[in-house]
Amino acid sequence: MSKKVAVIAIGGNSLIKDKAHQSVQDQYLAADETAKHIVEMIKEGWDVVIGHGNGPQVGFLLQKAEIAEKTASLSMAPLDVCGAQSQGQIGYQLVQCLQNQMKKAGINKPAACVIEQTIVNKNDPAFQNPTKPIGGFMTEKEAKAKAAELGWTIVEDAGRGWRRVVPSPLPERIVELDAIEALIKAGIIVVSIGGGGIPVIEHEDGTLEGIAAVIDKDFGNSLLAQNLKADMLVISTAVEKVAINFGTPEQKWLDTMTLEEAKAYMAEGIHFKKGSMAPKIQAIINFLEAGGKEAIITNPENILRAIHGETGTRITK
Ligand code: ADP
Ligand code: MG
Repeated sequence: MSKKVAVIAIGGNSLIKDKAHQSVQDQYLAADETAKHIVEMIKEGWDVVIGHGNGPQVGFLLQKAEIAEKTASLSMAPLDVCGAQSQGQIGYQLVQCLQNQMKKAGINKPAACVIEQTIVNKNDPAFQNPTKPIGGFMTEKEAKAKAAELGWTIVEDAGRGWRRVVPSPLPERIVELDAIEALIKAGIIVVSIGGGGIPVIEHEDGTLEGIAAVIDKDFGNSLLAQNLKADMLVISTAVEKVAINFGTPEQKWLDTMTLEEAKAYMAEGIHFKKGSMAPKIQAIINFLEAGGKEAIITNPENILRAIHGETGTRITK
């Protein structure tokens, strides 16, 4: 019997719990905790591909590059390269944590990280309206110099200083899909789609080029789940369940939602916060509409219980 495949998108809380725990060692401990729960799933026979966020990590890398440029004239790494660096460092930590947790659980299974590029459409409307702030704050003079020299889009951020903003286009195609699929078929646990993927555009002749943009990690992982025809999409985040009327006196935690209900709640526009829960629900809607059967949103410690239907929010067709 062929095994079941799950794509698990792990959120920022799987690596950085809070502002006081941002060191490499803290990230390792957080990753190890999440890996332990993913291994519980593997133990029950699931084959998994794990995608992860990388927002703060790319921020740190950019900040280091900015300081190195200022103080030692080292050339600045472009954003796509910072994305690749973050995939490598987080992928390394997650793979090692998974290997160690499998060792402890007596599971003999290989794991590997795939540095991954995601093709975006150069005509995506997001390019007309860059919205994602990245890198450190600058003075107006510094910001305008960067804009003139490097073509950065810059904005004044609510009196706190100037920042660079980049577009957040939709993911269209996973360049390394065949590689990921081959690994999964060979029974190898895969870590990939870090930060939604390194955004690249495809030229007329088929060549690729990295660009300065960021991809939503929930959309990137949903696309992978669609492409792999995964049995399950798990979105692991900071909450055990999804609520409607979130943050209001009428807040209600949901055990289940149908695709139709999810679409209706999304359309009402008041239930899921933009930039946090809304992209997760939309990513799941996309997965189910493309033929996926079920998806779960829960926190790392409840992944296995949610798979068993004991908690979490399950969204089905
Ligand atoms: P991640 O790093 O996992 O993507 P986000 O912060 O982007 O995490 O999204 C998860 C957060 O979404 C939760 O911690 C919660 O505060 C918030 N949230 C917004 N709307 C809802 C909702 N309707 N139900 C539950 N959580 C919600
Ligand atoms: Mg998020």
